[in-house]
Amino acid sequence: MNTEKREWPVVGVDVGGTKIAAGVVDHLGRISGQVKIPTDTSQPVAVLDSVENAVRASLSATGLNLSQIRGVGIGVPGVVDPEAGIGVEASNLRWHNVPVKSILEEKLGVTCYIENDVGAGALGESLYGAGQGYHNMVYLSLGTGIAARAIVGGDLYRGVHGLAGEIGHVNLGGGNRACRCGGTGCLEAYAAGPALAVQAQEALAAGQSSLLTELVATPQEIRAETVFEAAARGDKLAGEILAGAGRHLGQAILLLVAFYDPQAIVLGGGLVQGREELVKAIRVGMEDWSRQMPLFRLVLEVMPLKVSGLKNDGPVLGAAAIFNSREKEIFK
Ligand SMILES: [Zn+2]
Repeated sequence: MNTEKREWPVVGVDVGGTKIAAGVVDHLGRISGQVKIPTDTSQPVAVLDSVENAVRASLSATGLNLSQIRGVGIGVPGVVDPEAGIGVEASNLRWHNVPVKSILEEKLGVTCYIENDVGAGALGESLYGAGQGYHNMVYLSLGTGIAARAIVGGDLYRGVHGLAGEIGHVNLGGGNRACRCGGTGCLEAYAAGPALAVQAQEALAAGQSSLLTELVATPQEIRAETVFEAAARGDKLAGEILAGAGRHLGQAILLLVAFYDPQAIVLGGGLVQGREELVKAIRVGMEDWSRQMPLFRLVLEVMPLKVSGLKNDGPVLGAAAIFNSREKEIFK
């Protein structure tokens, strides 16, 4: 590939269960023509029609055509086989072994690469965000779900079954809260966004008093944001829920350190964007655990815990980074 083509842009596409975001990303990581369209989940392949529409809409917004880009990177939820380009399992897209790469390459006529969306987030942070400069780092995504992905030796560590970093569905504390995966006691059931709201609702139903009741008309309206707002205003119950989440996440981070021994941890996802309260609770959790596990104390003192600064651009930049990491043209 000549120098000129190496600097051609890439289209990044983030596929979600309700919407698809796409944007043209140049070789310096600048986004233009960002579009959002609804995801058509009426059939498994209808999602790919939506992806095609998003790519074409993004290109037309920037005045480019498909012959002027290097290719497309696509971040998708669920279990992915990136080598074969197959969406193995994604319940919210109704995907079961969908040949995403080959169908999209047929539709668009350019090279396409797919990756799990948390893996895309890790690549995006590594290439464009808070993970820049680290050849070994762990990205921990906190939102409606929880998962991590590691960059090891400058590349995404994928594991064998696509599960490396799926710490959200590990029972760390021996608890028995029900999880959406069908398991019990999973980290997600204590520290993901919906879990914060559910714990608040349960405490109110058990008769605990809280500022939360003044922020919503009925307890069913409580969301993670409501818990953050109450905690910021000094509410005891909300503070305890965040402290509990911080303790669980602190333990999860110690395990990630034990497995990957990274230079840095980068926190991303909707739950930490502008949420200093949760990040503080996580730091306290890490400190508490490391007092019991002195082996990690020295590491935690020198290992930065960073928060993503990519904000709403993160998913599209991450998707573009999928392409760049595969092509290795500018990643190394
Ligand atoms: Zn689970």
